[in-house]
Amino acid sequence: MGYNFIEILIKKRNGENLSPDEIEFLIKGYMKGLIPDYQFSAFLMAVFFRGMSFEETTYLTKAMLYTGKSLNLSDIKMPKIDKHSTGGVGDKVSLILAPLVACCGVCVPMISGRSLGHTGGTLDKLESIPGLRTNLTLNEFKNQLKKINLGIIGQTEEIAPADKKIYSLRDVTGTVESIPLITASIMSKKLAENLDGLVLDVKFGNGAFMKEYKTAKELARSLVNTGRRFGVKTIGILTDMNDPLGEYIGNSLEIIETIECLKGNGQEDLMKIILTLSESILKIARIQGGRELLLKKIKNSEALNKFREMIEYQGGNPKVIDDYNLLPVAKNHLVFSAPKTGYIKNIDTFKLGMLATKLGAGRLKKDDKIDIGCGFKIYKKTGNIVEKGEPVVKIFSDNKMLVKEVLNELNTVFVISSKPTKRKKLIRDIIR
Ligand code: URA
Repeated sequence: MGYNFIEILIKKRNGENLSPDEIEFLIKGYMKGLIPDYQFSAFLMAVFFRGMSFEETTYLTKAMLYTGKSLNLSDIKMPKIDKHSTGGVGDKVSLILAPLVACCGVCVPMISGRSLGHTGGTLDKLESIPGLRTNLTLNEFKNQLKKINLGIIGQTEEIAPADKKIYSLRDVTGTVESIPLITASIMSKKLAENLDGLVLDVKFGNGAFMKEYKTAKELARSLVNTGRRFGVKTIGILTDMNDPLGEYIGNSLEIIETIECLKGNGQEDLMKIILTLSESILKIARIQGGRELLLKKIKNSEALNKFREMIEYQGGNPKVIDDYNLLPVAKNHLVFSAPKTGYIKNIDTFKLGMLATKLGAGRLKKDDKIDIGCGFKIYKKTGNIVEKGEPVVKIFSDNKMLVKEVLNELNTVFVISSKPTKRKKLIRDIIR
């Protein structure tokens, strides 16, 4: 394939469609180090502005998928089904849902991502458990799946390496919010798992990558159609991300919340999404029992024990489940209180995510080290009544200067109105 990278880049910049060979050339060239980051960043930006046809998106997904190996799980007889989110603030759904459906008889070979833009990452959250590894080899992952039918790992040099490299470049080049790039990123990881089914939580609203419902629906269609093209039963559930999800934002704080959910103490909004997505997984797997079965597995601690088992298999300290002091949580706190009495009309959830990143919960540059103990506790959501002086958010960070800066910036995050307001419907639509 004797292509010239710059010509292909200009072609995309001018809004032309690329051929399958040209797309393959780009991905292979980038993976081999023949195309440097600065040129590939320009390509990502061209895709961001010019978009890609469904055919191009399919070829991009394929090229990214085939730079790595696929999991062969044919000797596991259970249905293999996974879930993925397009990214939100306080979104720890995967961490609770995976052990929950696994203990109902589904094999969950989950390949997840790290923090991206203003959103948190499942892997960063999991790694706040002392000792826990998300970089298992393909063989270790397969053995774990055979034994406990559950595992959560990251993109590796073996599985979805192209997504690993491109994902972190997109994160720092302002090229995340693109339907073809999100589709190829998610689907190249998920298709490498050789799944029977996939359930996608496609988020919209100010805390999501897709601010508008209409664009999120387009993304959901792109993801579902790509899954279908590769023979995987895929469902996209459109959920509102105008408010942070659950009670905490931040890595180890969200692990504590995960454990609390598995102990039966989850917040209503978070549990509603977990149960809706889990029900869809059970349906694809043809496992009877629905919501009742899921609630039973939480009540009788089977889901919590499955999570414990996964922590142990991945080298983590399972004692965190009974002793939260083993998790690294910032000791320094400061509370942001309501400046007046009224109703929470609106939350700038994007800004809240960016403030969490500023505290160190996410990355501003590719190689930034994150602070796993920092974050927020959210006391008030849209529609709630607040009294002047009542706590709205608690900031966790051992960097006292940063805490003060963030406290000032929180002034613009919560809009308080004298008129009663209502939170929007959490689950808007299902794309099959
Ligand atoms: N999740 C991913 O895995 N990739 C994206 O691009 C966005 C969310």
